[in-house]
Amino acid sequence: MDLPGGLITALKNADKVLVLTGAGMSAESGVPTFRDAQTGLWAKYRPEDLATPEAFARNPQTVWDWYEDRRKKVREVRPHAGHSALVEMEQHFSSFLLVTQNVDSLHQQAGSSDVVELHGNIMRSICSLTGKAIDADWISAHPGRPPASPHHARGLARPGVVWFGEALPEHVMKRALAAASSCDVCFSIGTSSLVQPAASLPFAALSAGAVIVEINPVPTSLSAAAQFSLQATAADALTAILAGLSRCR
Ligand code: NAD
Repeated sequence: MDLPGGLITALKNADKVLVLTGAGMSAESGVPTFRDAQTGLWAKYRPEDLATPEAFARNPQTVWDWYEDRRKKVREVRPHAGHSALVEMEQHFSSFLLVTQNVDSLHQQAGSSDVVELHGNIMRSICSLTGKAIDADWISAHPGRPPASPHHARGLARPGVVWFGEALPEHVMKRALAAASSCDVCFSIGTSSLVQPAASLPFAALSAGAVIVEINPVPTSLSAAAQFSLQATAADALTAILAGLSRCR
C-alpha cells in the first residue's frame, strides 16, 4: 500500500514510540472484535453484557462458558504479519512500548519484548473475591463452571481480565500514561477509541506534542486529530511501514 508523504520521515526522526493496539489488531488472526456480529451459540448475547462483574454475579456459568469458548478460539489462532512487523519495528527506535487492550497474548507469541496488558489476559484466572491468581492446574483439577477459588471459601474462579466497569491495575495505566506523555510518535491500531481509559492514551500523547498515527479501516473519534490516519488493515499498514523504515536505514 502507498503510505502518506512524511510518515516515514516522522518515524525516522522519532526516538520514543508508543503503540496502542485494540481488538482490530487481532482481527486478521481470526479473533472477532467485540463489535462484530456474534454468531451461533452466543448470538443472543451482547459481549459487552457478558464482560461485566454484574453479569458474572448474576450468572457465573454463562460468563465462564463464554470465556471458555473464547479461550478455545484464542488457542487456535496465530499472530499475523502485522504482529511480526511490530516486533521488527522495535529495533528502529531507542524506546518502544507496546500497550494492548487485547487479552489474547498474540503480541507476546509474535515475539514483542515489552507488552503492557491493559485489560489482563484471557488465559489467566483469578479469584472473584480476592483477585489472587489461580493456577491453570487448579482449574483443570477442579470441577464446576466456574471452579471454586482456592483463596476464599465463597470465591469462584473468574477470567483474569478487566471487565467493563472495573478499574485497570494502577501500575499498568501509570506506565502507559508515562509513555504517552513522553513519546515522539504514538500509534493507535485497531481500536474503536471508545473504551476508556485506554482511548485517552493517544489524546494524552497528542497533548504532549507527539505525532499520532492511526491504523483502522474505519474512521474513529481519533481520526481527525491524528496527523496520519491510515484507512487500512493492521497487517497491510504495518508491513508497508516496516518496509519504508527498512529502506531508509
Ligand atoms: P473494538 O471492537 O471496539 O474496535 C475494534 C476496531 O478495530 C474497530 O474500530 C474496527 O474498525 C477496527 N478493525 C477491524 N478490523 C481491523 C483490521 N484488520 N485492522 C485494523 N483495525 C481493524 O475494540 P477495542 O477498541 O479494542 O475495544 C474493545 C474491548 O474489548 C477492549 O477492551 C478489549 O480488551 C476487548 N476485546 C479484546 C479482544 C482480543 O483480545 N483480541 C477481542 C475483542 C474484544
